[in-house]
Amino acid sequence: MKTVAVLGGGPAGASAAERLARAGLNTILFDEKLAWEKPCGGGITYKAYDQYPYLLNNDTPKKLIHETVVNATGAGEAKMTLTQPLLIYSRFDLNRMLLERAERAGAAIEQTRVLGIERQNEGWRLRTRNGTAEADFLIVATGARNPLREVGTQLSAGDTMSTAGYFVPGARERIDIQFLPNFEGYIWVFPRCGHLSVGIGGKGEPAHAMRARLEAYMDQQGISRKDAVFYSHALPSLETRSWSRNRVSGRGWLAVGDAGGLVDPITGEGLYYAIRSGDLASQVLLNDVHDLADKALAYRDALAREFAHDLEFAAMLARRVFVGRFVFRSVPQRMVQFMQRSPRFRDLMQDLFAGTQPYLSLRARLMKGLNGTLQEVFMQFFLERVIPGQSRVIP
Ligand SMILES: Cc1cc2nc3c(=O)[nH]c(=O)nc-3n(C[C@H](O)[C@H](O)[C@H](O)COP(=O)(O)OP(=O)(O)OC[C@H]3O[C@@H](n4cnc5c(N)ncnc54)[C@H](O)[C@@H]3O)c2cc1C
Repeated sequence: MKTVAVLGGGPAGASAAERLARAGLNTILFDEKLAWEKPCGGGITYKAYDQYPYLLNNDTPKKLIHETVVNATGAGEAKMTLTQPLLIYSRFDLNRMLLERAERAGAAIEQTRVLGIERQNEGWRLRTRNGTAEADFLIVATGARNPLREVGTQLSAGDTMSTAGYFVPGARERIDIQFLPNFEGYIWVFPRCGHLSVGIGGKGEPAHAMRARLEAYMDQQGISRKDAVFYSHALPSLETRSWSRNRVSGRGWLAVGDAGGLVDPITGEGLYYAIRSGDLASQVLLNDVHDLADKALAYRDALAREFAHDLEFAAMLARRVFVGRFVFRSVPQRMVQFMQRSPRFRDLMQDLFAGTQPYLSLRARLMKGLNGTLQEVFMQFFLERVIPGQSRVIP
């Protein structure tokens, strides 16, 4: 293989380009904006920076946040000191840092919009705003709004979350998570260097209704919108049935990050999956064991081995987590109560915040060693209701 074209230079594309270029492949990355303030919380879990320590060890401005407050209307709040803090970047800074790494590794970077792709012999011909280019293989990293219809995930309306938010001038040292009644999603306040990212993400409501919920919350919390910058963006959140037919690869191309729908359908975490899938796609491309025709399948297998089944399971849990009910209360209200009262439940939430607790083993972990107190028996019934046995979901 002579040339790989990486379409899109967000975290997924930049990570793939870095690895491919470092291994000596002729790599060219196209992005219409390069580093930009992509609508995002910018939160990076411990799972991500533990696996990719350069995310933590660099000179780029960022914050490490240890305090979290989880609130469900009607149940009060639960405070938690994170044993594995959340790392928070502005996306401009994160994207720039990752693109610089790709460039230093030897990738060519061109600022232009890719307008179209066509197959040409065994490879591809690209049409960009700057002209044309040729490549033997494509990494598709064009994000949730991938305009290239013939490659990448085909998101149905049910497979996306709407989001809306504000970048608000100000400083804080804690994360706030707010669950709302009858809402399949949540509000977050993430402190960054010099400002906050305050946003809402969810399903089943039009964007203007979600924005109204967010603004009511901000008013209630005294978070001013003066000089704040509004944002909104789509976020992939695949439904359970969409995972098995998810179009993540094909002959001559692999889709990474949001362009492959690789986002946690509960938390909306996408940065880890973007970076990791960029890395996995590069490994598949660089592996001589697979011939060109086998690469699509090898990548699919790699995703399945690492996290795709877990995200598929999470898709099935998502609705129950946000709008399920248990003994006259909503599931988020019960979760806050368990966080207030059960050290075991709090430990589990710590690991969920760190990204180190797979959804597939959530139930087994919580059911192990319940101590028989009334509280824990109640929790057991709760877990049985909210988290079905995985064998019913994953064949
Ligand atoms: C409101 C919101 C909050 C979020 N908060 C978090 C969070 O706190 N933590 C977390 O882990 N995840 C979060 N996410 C998810 C995260 O932002 C995404 O998963 C992540 O950006 C995916 O990276 P990516 O590289 O796949 O795509 P993107 O970051 O979207 O990058 C795609 C790139 O492709 C370029 N591009 C697109 N089309 C073309 C074209 N035709 N030609 C050239 N270039 C093109 C774009 O300019 C862009 O730079 C959030 C998402 C939203 C919407």
